[in-house]
Amino acid sequence: MTSVPEIFASNVFNDDVMRDKLPKDVYKSLRKTIEDGEDLDKSVANVVANAMKDWAVEHGATHFTHWFQPLTGITAEKHDSFITPVSPSHVIMEFSGKELIKGETDASSFPSGGLRATFEARGYTAWDPTSYAFVKDGSLYIPTVFCSYGGEALDKKTPLLHSMEVVNEQALRILRLFGNTTAKRVTSSAGAEQEYFIVDKESFNKREDLIFCGRTLFGANPPKGQEMDDHYFGTIKPRIAAFMKELDEELWKLGVLSKTKHNEAAPAQHELAPIFTSANIATDHNQLIMEIMRKVADKHGLVALLHEKPFAGVNGSGKHNNWSLGTDKGENLLNPGKTPHENAQFLLFLAAVIKAVDEYQDLLRISVASAGNDHRLGAGEAPPAIVSMFIGDELEAILSSIESGENYLGVEKQRMETGVHVLPTFTKDTTDRNRTSPFAFTGNKFEFRMLGSSQSIADPNIVLNTIVAEELRQFADELESAKDFGKALDELLRRVIKEHKRIIYNGNCYSDEWKVEAEKRGLHNYATTVEALPHFVDKENVKLFTSHKVFCEAEMHSRLEILLEMYTKTINIEARTLVDMTKKQIIPAICEYSAHLARDIAAKKAVGEFIDATPETRLLTKISSLNKLLFEKGLVLEENVKNLPKTSDALEKARYFRHDVFEIMQEMREIIDEIEPHVPKTIWPVPTYSELLFNV
Ligand code: ADP
Ligand code: MG
Repeated sequence: MTSVPEIFASNVFNDDVMRDKLPKDVYKSLRKTIEDGEDLDKSVANVVANAMKDWAVEHGATHFTHWFQPLTGITAEKHDSFITPVSPSHVIMEFSGKELIKGETDASSFPSGGLRATFEARGYTAWDPTSYAFVKDGSLYIPTVFCSYGGEALDKKTPLLHSMEVVNEQALRILRLFGNTTAKRVTSSAGAEQEYFIVDKESFNKREDLIFCGRTLFGANPPKGQEMDDHYFGTIKPRIAAFMKELDEELWKLGVLSKTKHNEAAPAQHELAPIFTSANIATDHNQLIMEIMRKVADKHGLVALLHEKPFAGVNGSGKHNNWSLGTDKGENLLNPGKTPHENAQFLLFLAAVIKAVDEYQDLLRISVASAGNDHRLGAGEAPPAIVSMFIGDELEAILSSIESGENYLGVEKQRMETGVHVLPTFTKDTTDRNRTSPFAFTGNKFEFRMLGSSQSIADPNIVLNTIVAEELRQFADELESAKDFGKALDELLRRVIKEHKRIIYNGNCYSDEWKVEAEKRGLHNYATTVEALPHFVDKENVKLFTSHKVFCEAEMHSRLEILLEMYTKTINIEARTLVDMTKKQIIPAICEYSAHLARDIAAKKAVGEFIDATPETRLLTKISSLNKLLFEKGLVLEENVKNLPKTSDALEKARYFRHDVFEIMQEMREIIDEIEPHVPKTIWPVPTYSELLFNV
């Protein structure tokens, strides 16, 4: 086998390849485009395109595709071949700068939330040189942004790149205030830990709910769940190990820094964590991780489930978005540092994050809202729906000493004259390990833990970058005009801590006390997607995004519309699947077993046995009455899915699906789960939780 360093990024047109394959001046202008966002000259683009094509063909590519991230949350691609005819019997492989930079595509099959009038169905893709092109499945993949004819963004990458730009701009202003004249760029970085379940393909294919919805719509708990905690970090089973090995190799070829893999808390649940990189590349890589995971699993006769809650009663799957800001000189701005000077700068960035999370709790909550994630947030396993921050006792004590103006205990000379605070060096271990907090400081980065496993990490990073940029802007405005920097900094820190410390909670966020306490503190608690989403277009949020030009107002309304529609569609598919399975599989199976029982009872009666108290009679009575209830609820559900409210209002529709559809589904699953344990395996029509969770 080839060594890992040899295969790593072997299918990526990255910096090393560019330097190697491009003439010096062309390489230089391309770097300028990548670093400063300058337009690429047409002649330069032609040279780059040609070099890319030659390299891609060497790596087995015959086609190229602009790869983009429409608002469906997954990726899209349309492949064209490099083939150009030169005579009736001859072709050459060609790829122009124009084809590299811009693509035109039919946008009508992608959601636009009303942004794209039907008569103008064209959409445009434009090369994003900050994320490297790569070869996969015989095509050269070119990461691109996607917008409408009118220039409105129809994707997740455009606002992500804008948000990275604004946080860069504002963070640099702060660095200059601290005398840093050398840093040229501040980049937001992300590392997304990905949870997923693996089930056997044969079992998977026997369940319509897994096929159509990605989750089980019913299923009784197996005798053993995750109570023994023996799966977490346990030995990886051979079939899974083989899958993971190939997955790593495929990801490495694409330059994805897949680093950690282990079993998760629930049976059949696993996690993959890459090493962090820029938020943009991390977003692309997370998409690749999800896609390749599915493909490789399929090759191994397995299915990777990325749904947030494939099984009730066992842990769901989330994604942890580790986030930080770093300079081009390698300085992590969320690292407390060793000198008082570095510490003061750290405290200011920390204050910006605290203020941002407090003021824009709703946006963070909205950035993770989906039908799938509704099963986790607030269900006592994942972080709650209430956004709060964990910073650890030590940092909290430091912040309260700043607020009160007192010396931090145990530290002799805690403040220098200039108002710069001396922090004791604290180790990473003292901060981490509150696993219940939705937003935790983990020593040199923040870990946002509310994300659903299937979602794009673009949304939370757009929000994080923009809200922190807004706070840094306010801080820079205030401090740039201050006469005495040290004093102004001290005042600012004190004020921010006083006004926003309510967002900090180091206790157990799963507890009921916290819900009560959070309400006292006035924090939002949007338990469901339909409660959270409408706040996206609240006045302050529109002001935030439009003032930083991350979204225009029309884009915000269109995105809200799309999110609501996706919610409605998801529940609609689930409901129809449940109706179908109930009618064609569950009720017939129960009837079949009831008929068995009835025959046995009749036989006993015929020989004169007293049948009233026999197990057969009691069982039959029980399952018949449950079956009757299920049948009736099924009729209601079917009726409600057919007779939709006559409204074009997306929010009203989404609310209807939550209350008049989803809740009935929940009632039906309770009934089915009560019946399932009574029905023999030979009659039960679909694989049970035991089979799905324990037989790989
Ligand atoms: P754990 O969550 O188990 O403590 P780590 O500390 O190794 O694990 O980090 C988890 C994730 O955080 C990894 O993906 C890692 O690359 C990422 N990470 C580490 N430092 C940063 C950073 N400065 N910015 C963004 N992500 C980071
Ligand atoms: Mg983590």
